[in-house]
Amino acid sequence: MKYSLLITLIILATSCKGISQEKETSNTQTEVKKEFPITKTEAEWKKQLTDAEFYVLRKAATENPFTSALLAIKKEGTYVCAGCDTPVFKSEHKFDSGTGWPSFDKEIEGNVTYDVDYKIGYKRTEEHCATCGGHLGHVFEDGPSETTGERHCINGVALKFIPSK
Ligand SMILES: [Zn+2]
Repeated sequence: MKYSLLITLIILATSCKGISQEKETSNTQTEVKKEFPITKTEAEWKKQLTDAEFYVLRKAATENPFTSALLAIKKEGTYVCAGCDTPVFKSEHKFDSGTGWPSFDKEIEGNVTYDVDYKIGYKRTEEHCATCGGHLGHVFEDGPSETTGERHCINGVALKFIPSK
């Protein structure tokens, strides 16, 4: 009697372990799916970025409108990710949307990737750097109709401007 109870306990213990191992495996798979060519720990990003850059790029915060120095830039050049210097927008695609956030009607193809979020109650297309996964902003479909019709609404703090020579 005692012996069979012991066996039951061993089976229970083993099956619990089996379940927890399965969980670990599926968590790892999710992480692999989200992996970007540049991955850093939160502490490493915090060390590298300013507070504002960290909250926008790594925590998907939104900067206050009309605060970005990039809004006034009309020079030719490239806008790169503030986290990893990947070129994400070109000056020729920048336009004044009047929203207070740097706006573009086109991204540099392949250098940004998209996701859907429901953070403010409705569906939005979230846009992030394809190299480091840093959050850049959102894409809307009310951009200039004479070009692409897209409005890439980007946090200036997520970008750095590199003027053309
Ligand atoms: Zn990046």
